[in-house]
Amino acid sequence: MSADEKTIAIVGAGQAGGWAAQTLRSEGFGGRIVLIGDEAHRPYERPPLSKSVLAGEALPEMTRLQKPEAFDALELDWRPLASATRIDRAAKQLHLANGDVVGYDKLILCTGGRARRLGIPGAELPGVFTLRNLDDAAALGAALVPGRRLLIVGGGWIGLEVAATARRKGLDVTVVEAMQRLCERTVPPEISAYLLRLHASNGVLVELGMGIERLAQTQGGAGLIATLVDGRTLACDAVLAGIGLVPNDELAREAGLQCEGGVMVDSQCLTSDPDILAAGDVAVWHCERAGRRMRLESWQNAQEQGIAAARSALGIAVNHQPLPWFWSDQYGINLQIFGMPAPEHLAVVRGDMQGDSFVVFFLDAGKVVAALGPNAARDLRFARRLIERGTTVDAGQLADLQVPLSKI
Ligand SMILES: Cc1cc2nc3c(=O)[nH]c(=O)nc-3n(C[C@H](O)[C@H](O)[C@H](O)COP(=O)(O)OP(=O)(O)OC[C@H]3O[C@@H](n4cnc5c(N)ncnc54)[C@H](O)[C@@H]3O)c2cc1C
Repeated sequence: MSADEKTIAIVGAGQAGGWAAQTLRSEGFGGRIVLIGDEAHRPYERPPLSKSVLAGEALPEMTRLQKPEAFDALELDWRPLASATRIDRAAKQLHLANGDVVGYDKLILCTGGRARRLGIPGAELPGVFTLRNLDDAAALGAALVPGRRLLIVGGGWIGLEVAATARRKGLDVTVVEAMQRLCERTVPPEISAYLLRLHASNGVLVELGMGIERLAQTQGGAGLIATLVDGRTLACDAVLAGIGLVPNDELAREAGLQCEGGVMVDSQCLTSDPDILAAGDVAVWHCERAGRRMRLESWQNAQEQGIAAARSALGIAVNHQPLPWFWSDQYGINLQIFGMPAPEHLAVVRGDMQGDSFVVFFLDAGKVVAALGPNAARDLRFARRLIERGTTVDAGQLADLQVPLSKI
């Protein structure tokens, strides 16, 4: 069979799926590409959903991965509002909820994840939101009315970005976080402390080490009452659960593919079935830089792994080992993270941590392995080069603002 007669199916029309489809064409694949997505929308980027789209400053159309004409030019067999329910690996067929059956030569799973729901009484009441897709952003956005009270459960990235957007829109915001610091799983204590200061100075009430036990409607039904684990009650008009992501790996698990908190892939994006690949938030792979298996929930990884999976499906050699990069925008501040900081690394601060622009470098045996900080895009570009080159550096010079990073 010639390549032009082959079918590559992609499940999940999000960022990784959209990039995979585009890459198949840009690499010259002339066969059939079936793109199956359970949302109504063409592939789009999610970062604006907690920022400009939620604030009402950008239209949902502005999040599209491709302009409509570019998307049409890909000549995909595009199946919106279609959910893949089963993979028949022996027959190499994909079954959809609408009864359709799609045969494939290669299958790329880009199913991402869904927002974790609060497992407490009242979690499904009206006024309780999660944020993962455009429809969620529209629903939450409508509830962000100036003067109202928003309770955010979870002091991670989504929770904090929504807190910043809600404050800008004039809401009273309380963040309840179960851990002892903000974004504890992803940033070192220096940055958690910075985030706490940033939100406190913008009028957000942050409760650390605090959980929520139940939610109930007020007597009139217009508002909600949250009961915290210490027994206190908090009245609010809306609740956002920002408590993480559950990978959509059921399709793969039920097909007997190796899964461990996501679909396991190698650096060629191959699952335990050589004709099935996976990319994006759903994929678990061994990150050499972190020295462990992980899922990377980031815009950059979804794009790069989606591209890598498409190339790999075409038989092109790939080695997906990106330098992890993540950013967050809150109150006009842009925070970026390169690499994977770990507690055993030596932290070196450049700049004033009480200000709004500084960098924290993380050194392992004299080499910069990670760097992060707010409003420091230029310094972080240099930091990225130091990480990529594996240069041995002098910690004193890194910390010395008189020494330009370009000279290190
Ligand atoms: C609100 C928000 C803000 C973010 N901000 C940032 C940021 O500032 N910086 C950053 O680096 N990252 C950010 N991210 C993370 C980034 O957007 C994700 O890492 C990225 O979208 C992952 O892409 P993906 O293609 O793997 O998954 P997704 O984009 O989630 O796409 C998966 C798609 O597959 C569909 N699907 C699932 N199962 C099936 C099925 N069985 N059949 C058919 N379709 C299915 C889903 O509905 C979805 O449309 C943010 C994410 C969110 C939600």
